[in-house]
Amino acid sequence: NPNTEPIRHIAVLAFPFGSHISPLLNLVRRLSAGVAINVASDVKFSFLSTSQSNEALFSSKEGFGNVRPYDVNDGWPEGRKLSGDIMEPVEMFMRATPGNFKKALEEAEEDRGLKIGCLVSDAFLWFTGEIASERSVPWLPLWMAGPRSLLVQLESEKIRRHLGNDQGRICKDKTLDFLPGFKAIRISDLHEEVLITSQDSESSLFANMFHKMGQNLPKATAVLINSFHKMDPEISNQLKTKLRKFLNIGPFTLTMKLSPKPMPVLDENGCLDWLSEHETMSVAYVSFGSVATPLPHEIAALAEALEEAKIPFLWSFRGKLEGFLEEKLCNSRLKFGKVVPWAPQVEVLKHSSVGAFVTHCGWNSVLESVAGGVPLICRPFWGDQRLNMRMVEAVWGIGVEVEGGLITKEGMVKDLRRVFLDNEGKEMRERIGVLKKLAHEAVEGGGNSSKDFNALVKIVTKTPRV
Ligand code: UDP
Repeated sequence: NPNTEPIRHIAVLAFPFGSHISPLLNLVRRLSAGVAINVASDVKFSFLSTSQSNEALFSSKEGFGNVRPYDVNDGWPEGRKLSGDIMEPVEMFMRATPGNFKKALEEAEEDRGLKIGCLVSDAFLWFTGEIASERSVPWLPLWMAGPRSLLVQLESEKIRRHLGNDQGRICKDKTLDFLPGFKAIRISDLHEEVLITSQDSESSLFANMFHKMGQNLPKATAVLINSFHKMDPEISNQLKTKLRKFLNIGPFTLTMKLSPKPMPVLDENGCLDWLSEHETMSVAYVSFGSVATPLPHEIAALAEALEEAKIPFLWSFRGKLEGFLEEKLCNSRLKFGKVVPWAPQVEVLKHSSVGAFVTHCGWNSVLESVAGGVPLICRPFWGDQRLNMRMVEAVWGIGVEVEGGLITKEGMVKDLRRVFLDNEGKEMRERIGVLKKLAHEAVEGGGNSSKDFNALVKIVTKTPRV
């Protein structure tokens, strides 16, 4: 029966910006190994991304194992110079979709001599659902943030309906009581795009993308997430009722080590050795992810606060270090600090010397902090970061929001003392320790995430064509 034939060619469609690529590649590595071990070794994976991102990820056009890269047009006009606006490449890329992906899919099929039988994609690429349905193959989008921000996406119509036309006048501190499980979440914790109505969304790239995702994700064969069920069980249960299938298959940083060939840890800046010279739980690790940067006066205030509180720090810093900031961060008075352009964050957060993580609350950072058992001091910027921050502070009780939302010296000194010295910090550490244990249990054999992963392997290899 051709309808139950195993699927032999799986296409993986990437959104090549921010920190979206590495979890997807991570999934492909694990999936290709899992499929080979459990089902068949001749399944082929085609990884579709821009040439720039493919060159950074793959050392050759051949790829590795049974995973081969194919380039997708990035939509950037020939000869056009970068304006410095970080959103411009994203807009150009999105404008070239879905045509660029369709073309690359055909190339992959021709090159591999096999029709594609399944599409795995970044959930941002909502239109892959339409491509999958045109081809009558399963669609498996991977949501790159947390379960709660996914639910907000699915409930955005309801949220807007509830807030009605009064948005301008609504107190942003109002909580979202009308959504089950959202008592602790405030309107101000949502990303702005949620509040934009469908008519107005056409003018905002992300608002439009989020609307379309909200409409399309419920049609997916299964929605995948880098999380584990017990991280947010009530929300995970709700998602199971709203989606055809919802599979928690993370945390990816813990499942990585289960892959037969774990990636080597690159520590060009000697962060881990430096940490080993410090006492247990004495160091603050500072990083605001791959895109966000606090305002210059906040950076200076943070440096001054660390100095005043006498907390050694490891700071993953991107941007220009000049004048005042250079003096603040690199002068001799701050010898107890180390500033690096990039740190092996997953390993850093697992190091016993790290006692707190000053973070923007990106989803990967939150999960990695949980996997390492390190409490967080949160300075969120945009997107899902405020929602994650509220969860960290008000639901999981594993960290604090910086006083007043912006970093000030006085506020940060207080926050550092709360986490490093006070009993409150000890309690946060205990609570995050419990989550850490649950995360580890989830990825072990018989754990929820490993069961969901096995279900995924079955789908990508055996699902009858839809
Ligand atoms: N990261 C890292 N080293 C650094 C800074 C960041 O390895 O010096 C990684 C971090 O481990 C995480 C990702 O970059 O996996 C950042 O993702 P997140 O979702 O936290 O934030 P985003 O970059 O999307 O804002």
